[in-house]
Amino acid sequence: MSVSIHSKLPDVGTTIFTVMSQLAAQHNAVNLGQGFPDFPMHTTLHELVAKAMREGANQYVHMNGYPLLRQQLATKVQQLYHTKIDAETDITVTPGGTYAIYTALTTVLQPGDEVIVFEPAYDSYIPNIEINGAVAVRIALNYPDYSIPWDEVKKKITSRTRMIMINSPHNPTGAVLSSSDMDTLSTVVEGTNIIILSDEVYEHLIFDGLKHESILRYPELLKRSFVCFSFGKTYHCTGWKLGYCISSHELMKEFRKVHQFNCFTCDTPKQVALATYLDNAQAYLELGAQIQQKRDYFRKQMEQTPFQCIPSHGSYFECYSYAAISDEPDMVFAKRLTTEYGVATIPVSAFYKNGKDDRVIRFCFAKQEATLDKAIEKLLRVK
Ligand code: PMP
Ligand code: GLN
Repeated sequence: MSVSIHSKLPDVGTTIFTVMSQLAAQHNAVNLGQGFPDFPMHTTLHELVAKAMREGANQYVHMNGYPLLRQQLATKVQQLYHTKIDAETDITVTPGGTYAIYTALTTVLQPGDEVIVFEPAYDSYIPNIEINGAVAVRIALNYPDYSIPWDEVKKKITSRTRMIMINSPHNPTGAVLSSSDMDTLSTVVEGTNIIILSDEVYEHLIFDGLKHESILRYPELLKRSFVCFSFGKTYHCTGWKLGYCISSHELMKEFRKVHQFNCFTCDTPKQVALATYLDNAQAYLELGAQIQQKRDYFRKQMEQTPFQCIPSHGSYFECYSYAAISDEPDMVFAKRLTTEYGVATIPVSAFYKNGKDDRVIRFCFAKQEATLDKAIEKLLRVK
């Protein structure tokens, strides 16, 4: 007898990041698709992990995260954002930012709830909403600056709106929210029961002298928010899959109920190592300038190609229009760019549920100069 299940995600295939990375590998293409750095992470961190393992930090750590790590994070938040959070009650360490986002949504959502989500949206958001029986109310960011159309947000709020998801610096576009966006957000949610999910995994990857407008700067908003972070992005170790979530005491209590019966706790030696490494504030304070150099290097070379830049102000990514080159759908163009020219990218329509296609592809510039040079050499042949 064959068995079958009723798919919870009938419309979902394999994530575009895996699809394009596989295609890149098959065709030996330079992979500027999936977002990961190809330069080495901090060697001091390797040593700290090895030391933690040698010294016996190999068993389950506290389910909410290694206490000293949470303490260090609370201190960092106080220094950076001038907000006092309680390491005991308001922070939970998670196996990556993706898990923190899923857990926050699962903690809050009931079937039929509505969640306002801006597109292009990081590809896990809508499936994470729908798997909880909730409804994604999609709003397209303004093209081409990818700002939030707040008037439309106000119109789309109903009695069923349960959450609003924001992401700054933004993947895939590199758009950054301003203090005026945060003020508008405060006005929009005031007097409602709406919860905010703020994806801030690129908090330190911000350029052009801009300030990261974290929810953590706004204590009134924090009371109704889950704020998600990733160590992978901050310390060039996306494969570590370690992150954390910050919220209010009340909301975090519920988040932990879901977390404890899912993964329960995360990798111990890496948490022990990070607790020490967080003393080195320069490592994250200098990150924006370091990665901006890569963006600038890439952008400058791209000027020689027919691709048109849609300026990024943060994250690992910059989007480019290829409208002057081809009229093909972006998926077709991105695949052809990989197979014929040897450069893998991400078609931005993959971040829209209805496949909205502005003829834009996303490049990851968080790479060594040699990798960027290799890609540019190939992109110069594109006509
Ligand atoms: N949100 C966004 C916008 C991302 O780009 C990423 C990167 N994958 C994540 C969340 C998840 O981070 P992590 O790898 O820590 O799960
Ligand atoms: N966040 C990375 C990106 O946007 C990829 C993460 C993943 O492969 N799921 O490319």
